[in-house]
Amino acid sequence: MLAEIKGLNEECGIFGVWGHPDAAQLTYYGLHSLQHRGQEGTGIVVSDGKTLKGVKGEGLVAEIFTTEAMAELTGSAAIGHVRYATAGGGGYENVQPLLFHSQSGSLALAHNGNLVNANSLKHQLETQGSIFQTSSDTEVLAHLIRRSGYPHLNDRVKNALSMLKGAYAYLIMTETELMVALDPHGLRPLSLGLLGDAYVVASETCAFDVVGAEYIREIMPGELLIINENGLTSERFAVSTTKAICMMEYVYFSRPDSNIHGINVHTARKNLGKRLALEAPIDADVVTGVPDSSISAAIGYAEEAGIPYEMGLIKNRYVGRTFIQPSQSLREQGVKMKLSAVRGVVEGKRVVMVDDSIVRGTTSRRIVSLLKEAGATEVHVVISSPPIKNPCFYGIDTSTKEELIASDKSVEDIRQLIGADSLTFLTVDGMMHALGQEGTNGYCLGCFTGNYPTEIYPDTLQYYYQK
Ligand code: SF4
Repeated sequence: MLAEIKGLNEECGIFGVWGHPDAAQLTYYGLHSLQHRGQEGTGIVVSDGKTLKGVKGEGLVAEIFTTEAMAELTGSAAIGHVRYATAGGGGYENVQPLLFHSQSGSLALAHNGNLVNANSLKHQLETQGSIFQTSSDTEVLAHLIRRSGYPHLNDRVKNALSMLKGAYAYLIMTETELMVALDPHGLRPLSLGLLGDAYVVASETCAFDVVGAEYIREIMPGELLIINENGLTSERFAVSTTKAICMMEYVYFSRPDSNIHGINVHTARKNLGKRLALEAPIDADVVTGVPDSSISAAIGYAEEAGIPYEMGLIKNRYVGRTFIQPSQSLREQGVKMKLSAVRGVVEGKRVVMVDDSIVRGTTSRRIVSLLKEAGATEVHVVISSPPIKNPCFYGIDTSTKEELIASDKSVEDIRQLIGADSLTFLTVDGMMHALGQEGTNGYCLGCFTGNYPTEIYPDTLQYYYQK
């Protein structure tokens, strides 16, 4: 589905390299492959062993990193970031990596995720005299590291990380070290790879394929990797960890060519579609998927149901960022600009339209109507995940609870609102079964079930329920 018009947005993607003469160029390519995780801002910071230098801006990777900008970025280590602004809002100052200079040295930070206790920590830090340069919750970590009393940086970082709650995959770089940290629940994906003798780290494994790196392993929940001239060491900053990877990474966010915890995302989506065909058998002529993220599930549905898969919807790939607009009317306009129904495929046909999720419902309504205007006699909407009834506090902008159509409406109400002939969502059990899991252990399903893996702080709740 189309993130920017659907109202379901990933916050960020991160990429890092240690020990390669072309660190900035590799980071550029890595970020390019992670562009789907955020399109509002991007940055790269490099280290030449003595200083940290950065380039960042609001825009796409290909727009910000011009030949001139890349020429500035020399060094054998780099971290980079692509951002979709949720908590903290947009603006140049919030584009990451954040870079801090002090008498004791420099520090660059790149963060994917969202802290649930950022506001209370920020309040405490400000009371103690910290002055924040940004409204991003990422800066909280920099202040905690600086204020920690431990003499060694590693211990200061571990001490600071142990105070954070929520979802975080961090890249932390000084002139002489790259540190990689993942929250105690491992909510966001983060993997380690090797390119020759150089270490690479990325939000998604698709970035390794692009730069030619070999996948080594995932970063463990509560783990801090320290990479420097002595090689790589692994330490723990949290003793109590419970894995809870975000289910939406499989359903919607990650690229189909990425693997998360050994499961290929395309295969996972195809299995979700197959399971849906078992749970929602429909007498129809063709199956179509909403491009791009629902195609894999649609192929799976068609294969299991024995109904031909056809390209009934086409995405216009040349609509630019102009259409990434926050207002409802512009979002609906965005659907018209970005998708077309293929009359030759759907005219006179009973169509099963597979989508990965329904957030506000407006996009689904528009797509159903596109298919009917193109001559589909029936449109049956099948969704390869359960209804999203609750907001996400961990870096996915699902908007407020009030804006989520499934938060207070029945499936039949939603069916009527989107104008479909039938509407079926995958069950939670079916979703876990499709991923080869017996229960829900190891996954976050908060937006579906309301059961979140961490404590949610009152100020965070207020933000998500009233913003
Ligand atoms: S609440 Fe939903 S979107 Fe957020 S981390 Fe959990 S599964 Fe992912």
